[in-house]
Amino acid sequence: MGRKGVPAAQEQLRELQDRLRQREAEIAMLSELTEVIGSEYNLQKVFDLVAVRARELLHAETATIPVLSPDQKTYCYRAADGKNADELRFAELPIETGICGWVFRHRKAWWKGVLDQLEASERNKWEKEAGTVLLVPLVGKRQFLGGIACINKVDGASFDTQDYDLLNLFAGQVSIAIENAMFFEELTEARHKAEAYKEKLIESNQKLTRSNEELQHYAVHDPLTALPNRTLILDRLQQGILTARRDQKPMALIMIDLDHFKEVNDTLGHSVGDDLLISVGKCFQSALREPDTLGRLGGDEFAVVLPQANREAALTVARKLQLTLQQPVEIDHNSFSIGASMGIAVYPEHGSDPSALLRSADVAMYMAKRNRDEYVIYDPDTDINNPNRLELLRDLRAAIQEHEIGLAFQPKLDLRNQVITGVEALARWTHPARGVIPPGDFIPVLEHTGLIKQFTLQILEKAVQYCKTCQQRGYRISVAVNLSMHNLRDENLPGQITAILQRHALDRKYLMLEITESAIMNDPERSLDILTRLDDMGVQLSVDDFGTGYSSLSYLKRLPVQQLKIDRSFVSDMMNDKDDAMIVHSTIDLAHNLGLHTVAEGVETEQVLDELKTMQCDIAQGYLISRPLSPDDFLSYLDSGEWKVNRIEEDADSCSNY
Ligand code: C2E
Ligand code: CA
Ligand code: CA
Repeated sequence: MGRKGVPAAQEQLRELQDRLRQREAEIAMLSELTEVIGSEYNLQKVFDLVAVRARELLHAETATIPVLSPDQKTYCYRAADGKNADELRFAELPIETGICGWVFRHRKAWWKGVLDQLEASERNKWEKEAGTVLLVPLVGKRQFLGGIACINKVDGASFDTQDYDLLNLFAGQVSIAIENAMFFEELTEARHKAEAYKEKLIESNQKLTRSNEELQHYAVHDPLTALPNRTLILDRLQQGILTARRDQKPMALIMIDLDHFKEVNDTLGHSVGDDLLISVGKCFQSALREPDTLGRLGGDEFAVVLPQANREAALTVARKLQLTLQQPVEIDHNSFSIGASMGIAVYPEHGSDPSALLRSADVAMYMAKRNRDEYVIYDPDTDINNPNRLELLRDLRAAIQEHEIGLAFQPKLDLRNQVITGVEALARWTHPARGVIPPGDFIPVLEHTGLIKQFTLQILEKAVQYCKTCQQRGYRISVAVNLSMHNLRDENLPGQITAILQRHALDRKYLMLEITESAIMNDPERSLDILTRLDDMGVQLSVDDFGTGYSSLSYLKRLPVQQLKIDRSFVSDMMNDKDDAMIVHSTIDLAHNLGLHTVAEGVETEQVLDELKTMQCDIAQGYLISRPLSPDDFLSYLDSGEWKVNRIEEDADSCSNY
C-alpha cells in the first residue's frame, strides 16, 4: 500500500466509523423510541412521536403518518412534523389519490427504487415524487394500518436504500405499538360508547320506572278523590293482618257509608256529588294519622285500615271521623252537612282475612244505617250470615216446612167498657236444642231469605183458624196478625188472605193486620197501594210501633187504616218521662182527629192504665192485662172471666172489633 493509499484508507476508516456511530445512534434512538412508544397508549401521542422521530431519523423536511380509515375509502394524516405540518395534519384524502393510495394498493413501500418496477406511463407520472418521497407501509398483526412518509431530505438529496431500510425497520418496530394504541383507542371509544349507552339505558330505565309508578298509582287509586281504591285497601288490609298476626296485636277496619248521598247526587247533580266526595275524603283524612289508610271503595263508600288498633282505638277514630262531618262543607257557595254510618270490624275476633273483615265491617255498617247509629261495632249475634245463623236458618227452614212455629195470644182491652175485644197473634218458635227463640231473632232471618211469605201465610192460617175457634166458643173477638215489610210488596197477599178467610169461614172484619210504621214508610207509595187493596177487602188495618218510623202527617192522612198502636217505648216510661207522656197524649189526640182508634202497647202498671184512660186512649195491651199466652191458656183465660168478653149470641150490634 503506497503513502497515498494511507490517507485514503484512513479517510475510509473515519467514514466507516462515522457511519457506525451514526448507526449506533440510530439504533439507540430506535430502541429508546420503541420503548417509549410501546408504553404509550395515547394514539395521538404515539403518532406525533413517530412523526417527529421519523423526520429526525431520515433528516427529512417533513414526516407524516397517513392512516387508513376503517372503511378503507380515505386516509388521513394523523400526524405531521416539519415543513407544512400544520396544513397536512388531519387532512383527509380519498384512497384513489396520491402515493398513499398506491402504497395501499400495492402493499409495499414507495421510494425511488420502485420506479424500476413501474410501467413507462406510470413511471412518468410518479417520477418527480419518487425522488422526494419515501413512504413505507405500517402493517400491524391484524391489518394494514397506513404508512410513514418522509418528504424531501434536508440536504436536497434523494432518499437512498439506507433511508429505505431504516424507515422500514422503524415502521416494523412501531407498527405493533401503533396497532396496540389503535386497538386501545377503539376499546376506549367502545367503552365510552358503552358508557353513554349505559347512561341512556339508566335514563330510560328511570323513565320506565317513573311511568310504571304512575301506572301503578292509577291502578290502585281512585281517580276522583286520589285516595287508595278497593284493591289497595285490600292490600293494606292483608299487610295489616300479617303484621298483626306476627306481633300478636289487633287491627281494625272501619267502613263508612254516607247518608242520603244519592239524594244529593240526584237533586244537585253529579258534579256537586263529586265535589262532596272529595271534600268528605279530605275531612276524613285530616282526622287520621300516618299509619292509617283511608280509601274509597266506590260510590259513597269509604274505608279506613287501622293497623294495631283495638276495639277502643277504632271507636275513638270513628268518633273523630264523625266529628269532622259536623262542620258543614262549602261547595259552590252552598254549605252541606252530610252524615255517615260506620261499621267497625276488629282482627282477629271479627275475621282473620281481608274479605272476612270487610264483610264484618259491612254488616256492622248496615246495622248502623238501619238503627240510625253513627257507628256500630260488628256483633256476630246480629249477623244473620254468621255460621251459627246459617245453622239457625237450616233449622228454621225445617220448622216452617213442618209447620212447627206456633202462636201466643195477647189480649187487647177496650178501655171504654173494660171488654176484651181482640187478640194479637205473636209467633213462637221453640227450637229443639236452644229452647224458645224470640221472634225478633228469627223474623229478620226470614225477611232476609224470602221465607217470610210462606211463614206469614202459616201464621195467618193458624191465627184465623184460632179466632174461629174462639168465636165457636162464643167469644166475639178479632185477631191481629203482624205483617212484615216484605209482605207489603207481595201482590198475591190480598188474594191469599181472602182464601184463608173463606177456608175458615171467618168474617173478614175480624181480621186485623198490623204493619209497622217504618215498614210503611220504607216505600210509602207502594204501601199505600197494597193497604188500599187490603182495606177494600174489608179487613182492619193497624199501624204498629207508631212514633218510631218518622211518618209524615200527609201520608198518615191518606193511609186507609183504622188503628194506631203507640210504641211501647213511649208507653212504658210515660209515668217518669214527661216527653213520653206528651207524645202518648198528642198521638191519641192526633189519631182521634184523623178518625182512628189508639192502642197503647206495653202497659205494665195500673198507673199507666189509669193515665191512658184519662188521656182517652181507646185500647190497652200489655203484661198488666195479660202476657202472651199459649192457645189453650188463652182460651182458659177467656173462660176465667177475669175480663168481660163480648158473646157472639148476645148484643151482636154493640160489638166492636179492634
Ligand atoms: P210487636 O208487634 O210490637 O209485638 C208486641 C211485642 O211486645 C211482643 O213481643 C209482646 O210479647 C211484647 N209485649 C207485650 N206486652 C208487653 C209489655 O207489657 N211489656 C213488654 N216489655 N213487652 C210486651 P214478641 O212476641 O217478642 O214480638 C216481638 C216482635 O216480633 C213483635 O213486636 C213483632 O214486630 C214481631 N212479630 C211477632 N210475631 C210476628 C209475626 O207473626 N209476624 C211478624 N211479621 N212479626 C212478628
Ligand atoms: Ca204487633
Ligand atoms: Ca208494636
